[in-house]
Amino acid sequence: MKQAVRTLASQYGFDLCHVTRAQVNAPHPEAYQAWLAAGMHGEMAYMAEAERVARRQQPQSMLPGVRSVIAVAMRYTPPAYSLPEAEAAATSGVISTYAHGDDYHDVMKKRLKALARDLDELLGVHQQRVYVDTAPVLEHALAASAGLGWQGKHSLTINREFGSWLLLGELFTTADIEPDTPASNHCGSCSACIDVCPTAAIVAPYVVDARRCISYLSIEYRGYIPHALRPLFGNRIYGCDDCQMVCPWNRHASVCEIDFLRPRGENILPELASLLHLDDQSFRIRFARSPIKRTGRDALLRNVCVAMGNSADRQWVPMLHSRLQDESPLVRAFAFWAIEQLAGDDPLVRARLMDTMAFEHDQSAYKDMFETMEQNIE
Ligand code: SF4
Ligand code: SF4
Repeated sequence: MKQAVRTLASQYGFDLCHVTRAQVNAPHPEAYQAWLAAGMHGEMAYMAEAERVARRQQPQSMLPGVRSVIAVAMRYTPPAYSLPEAEAAATSGVISTYAHGDDYHDVMKKRLKALARDLDELLGVHQQRVYVDTAPVLEHALAASAGLGWQGKHSLTINREFGSWLLLGELFTTADIEPDTPASNHCGSCSACIDVCPTAAIVAPYVVDARRCISYLSIEYRGYIPHALRPLFGNRIYGCDDCQMVCPWNRHASVCEIDFLRPRGENILPELASLLHLDDQSFRIRFARSPIKRTGRDALLRNVCVAMGNSADRQWVPMLHSRLQDESPLVRAFAFWAIEQLAGDDPLVRARLMDTMAFEHDQSAYKDMFETMEQNIE
């Protein structure tokens, strides 16, 4: 039966398909609790809501009578550039590889739902639920107990053959399917991901402090990125792949032949200048099918300002000036920060920044601008 399920899953583009019971094994629930208790989920308050915590720790609560969880993974194309090449492309922004094409939530959910329909024919009608990322499910823990891959020290799932360029999904079913053997861990004494992390966000093996992680800060977090971390972003404008790019298991991963996310050239190291002038409408058109639309125009422009501010290239200053009048206080404050980084020692620029700050009416933006100026004085 399991082989038939796997064959069906592969017809829908899932490279891996494993089965487990609806339970998460130690140390995952305890580790998750400790992570929350330390506040490492940042502003993702929903993660700490009691009901969602309980559901994550007891996956059987997601579907009454659930007998099996089918854990699937879909591969996507790894970046064609190396880390130094990405960093050297100073007029460009680095976008996390999974976001180079279509939104995987949409792509995978559609395929999982179709798989669920076909399973009804194969296994008889059962209750089923499908999840891709957004539900309160410890997906990496379920993937590990299903034998799909182990959770690496960077917290992502690694498969021995395919590495970690994987997107995960789950199909909960009341059908009884024989579970697979859990995956064993093959990180060994390696610490490459911990060593390369630009913001030291992997505070211990298997523990990522979201409050320091560029992926969280540039995608999920919509507020004022802490001043101390901004210079560490370099030219990363949407997510960060550094910990995956150095992982030895990705060096030997087999090639992804079909990428259902359909990566597009315009999202691979896009010119920063092409993004800074996006208004709401042009942003929605540019990123209509992309996961970047979820982050929103203001947060993306915030990130673009950070990359420009980190470039040490004064050519951006006039362009950034135009964003000091942006409708978004967040964008105004980050354009202000970027200009200050690039030309804060120029008395004329400094005078203009002081004027801008004097007329700023939004309290949060004003506070951020004030901190920017204060840091320069220090
Ligand atoms: S995504 Fe980037 S910032 Fe986050 S843990 Fe990995 S290397 Fe560090
Ligand atoms: S880089 Fe090394 S330690 Fe980090 S996940 Fe990969 S194998 Fe594990």
